[in-house]
Formats: sequence, C-alpha cells, structure tokens
Amino acid sequence: MDRDHAIALLEGGAGAERLFSDAAAIRDEAWGRTVTYSRKVFIPLTTLCNSVCTYCTFAKPPGAGGEYLTPDDVLAIARAGAAAGCTEALFTLGDRPELRWPQAAEFLGSQGVGTTMEYTAVMSRLVLEETGVFPHANPGVMDVAAMELLRPHSPSMGMMLENISPRLREPGMPHEKAPEKEPALRVATIEASGAAKVPFTTGVLVGIGETPAEVVDSLLALAELAERLGSIQEVIVQNFRAKADTRMRRSAEPVPAYFARVVAMARVLLPPEVSIQVPPNLTERYEVLLDAGVNDWGGVSPLTIDWVNPEQPWPHLDELGARTAAAGFDLRPRLPIYPRHQNEEWVDLALLDRVLAAADEDGWASSSVTGIAAPGTGVLGH
Ligand code: SF4
Repeated sequence: MDRDHAIALLEGGAGAERLFSDAAAIRDEAWGRTVTYSRKVFIPLTTLCNSVCTYCTFAKPPGAGGEYLTPDDVLAIARAGAAAGCTEALFTLGDRPELRWPQAAEFLGSQGVGTTMEYTAVMSRLVLEETGVFPHANPGVMDVAAMELLRPHSPSMGMMLENISPRLREPGMPHEKAPEKEPALRVATIEASGAAKVPFTTGVLVGIGETPAEVVDSLLALAELAERLGSIQEVIVQNFRAKADTRMRRSAEPVPAYFARVVAMARVLLPPEVSIQVPPNLTERYEVLLDAGVNDWGGVSPLTIDWVNPEQPWPHLDELGARTAAAGFDLRPRLPIYPRHQNEEWVDLALLDRVLAAADEDGWASSSVTGIAAPGTGVLGH
C-alpha cells in the first residue's frame, strides 16, 4: 500500500472493508487463531522524569509522588508476581530524572549508582535472581551501551516511538517540554536494539495532536526499521485517553472507528511476523479490534494497576479469555520474549536456558510457570 492511499484510508476514504479483511487475513496467516497476553507485574521504578508530556499522569515532581522504589519495594512486587504465575516484570520509569532533579541524584547515590539506567540494571538483576520473573525494561531513551548493561538481566526491552513527527515538539504541542521525545533520539534507540541484539517492543500513540499522515509516516518508519533490524518483536497501537489532571484533559480522544482503521493499517504495513498489540483496558469493546488484525493484548496483570493509565483497570483475565474466545480465538499467556527471538542470537547466553525452560513447545509461556491450563482444558487463571 502506498503512502497516499494509506492516508486516504485513515481519513475515511473508501476501502476500509478491504483494509480490515486484509489485516485479518495477514494475522490469521502469521499468527493463527491464538491471541496472546503477557502475564505481568508493573514495577514503576521511578515516577520522576526529565521530560514533561502534557498527557502524562505517570511522572510527578518530588514531594508530589515523584520518587524511586527501593530494592525492598521492587522485590515485594516481583515476589507477588512470581506467586501469581507472572513471567514479566515490566520496569516502567521516567526518563533520566537525574538530569533535572537533585533528589534523583541523591537517591541514586544512596544506592551506590550514578544513573537511573544503572539502577534499572541492578534492580533487573535482583528481580531475575530472586524471583525468576523476566524483567522487561522500559527506561526511555537508550544507546547500545545501556542495552548491553541491561541485556544480561532483561531479555527484552521497549520504548514507544509514539510518533515520528518533530512537529509534536513545537511550542504548544504535547512534547514541547519533552527532550526525550525527540523522534530522532527514539529512532536511534530502536536502531540500537538491532545493534545490541535486543528483542524490542515499540509502538505508536494515537490521538495526541498528530495528523493521519503523521500516523502513516510513523508506521512506515517502524516497518522499515523492523525489516532492517530484525529486533522489533511487537508494535503497540495505543489510543490516547484524556486524563483529568493533565493539560490535555479536554482533548478529544480518537473515535473507535478511526482507531480501528489505524490498528488495521499497522497490521497491513508492518511485516507479518511483527506482533500487533492493543491494550485491552483502553477500549471498551476491545474484542472488535480482533477484526482489525490484532494478535496480542500486551501485558495484563492479575495484581498491579496500569501505572500509566491508573484510571483504566485491566480486565479480569477470565473475562479477557471469555471475550477473546467468543470472538473465535484462544487466549494464551506468552513470555515477554516472543518465540521468534528465543535463540542465542537474541538472548544473552547466560539467560537462554531460563527463557527456553519457561517456554512451551510453541514458545508461549509454559503452564508449569504460569499455572494456567493450556487452551481447551479449562480455567485461564486469576
Ligand atoms: S517521558 Fe514518559 S514518564 Fe516522562 S513525562 Fe513523558 S510520558 Fe511521562
């Protein structure tokens, strides 16, 4: 599909039916009738951040909720996750807070490290060694050296591209005060995942003031990166939700029909082997997005809230399984590392045996780890 045609389709031009049928056919061919999710706990390692994005409620200043988790806090969450059969510890954190907040540098010093990236590596190792749950690190902008630091303890990593357009950094736009959201820096981070051989999750954020053309350009850029690097294992298509205590609280959210076209467009433009993920807690009737070619619901926690969208609880896993089954698909838990990357090229050799031991014969999460019966045999879990 060429760029102009893709833009016309997103703008509501004729051909949407064909877009959806093509997207569903690509998904069926590449992924079958299995829809996955990652059974995870959420570790908000620090809610301090160097950037200010006008839709974000995650980041907070010191004294108003901006802080680091201590090693004891981190371990308590990870241990609860291990007990509930979780296979992913999602480290989500503000980007390089030590560049802005003296309190951040002070805390890091008290832990014997100089940067938040080093603290993420130390905490990832602690979680892996003490609980066996796989860290999936999202510490923001990274270079190859940062990925090499994390890779022995965090077999997969991620960072949303959000959007490729530098226009979103202009005055009055949501990333004006967010230096880490400079598209070139984010593309360089994704490129580093190819060089460092890290299975990588990225994605687009839809509805933050971008145009349909800028969505298409972002998806085309991710498609090119995926083809060239081989590291992109999944692309998240996430819809903006207006949060009460933000500057964008009155901004329009993407309408469901438009968002579904973006999801289908992602499925058509990205290579078939790249998983297309949509968070099920941000769309009321999320199962209709299966018609747009989705094959993954992303990280869903039986225990912790979605710290990025705390007002939107994750669906209960039984309900997620039932609604997915009603649409004609089997719901299966996966590891944070997709089957295609479970090999010595993409996983640190010291970790590969653990990853393979946690996977079943198809590369999804083994029932011996999650405690969840295989499809067709009954209960889906907590
Ligand atoms: S970089 Fe991330 S954590 Fe920081 S303000 Fe922006 S969205 Fe929030």
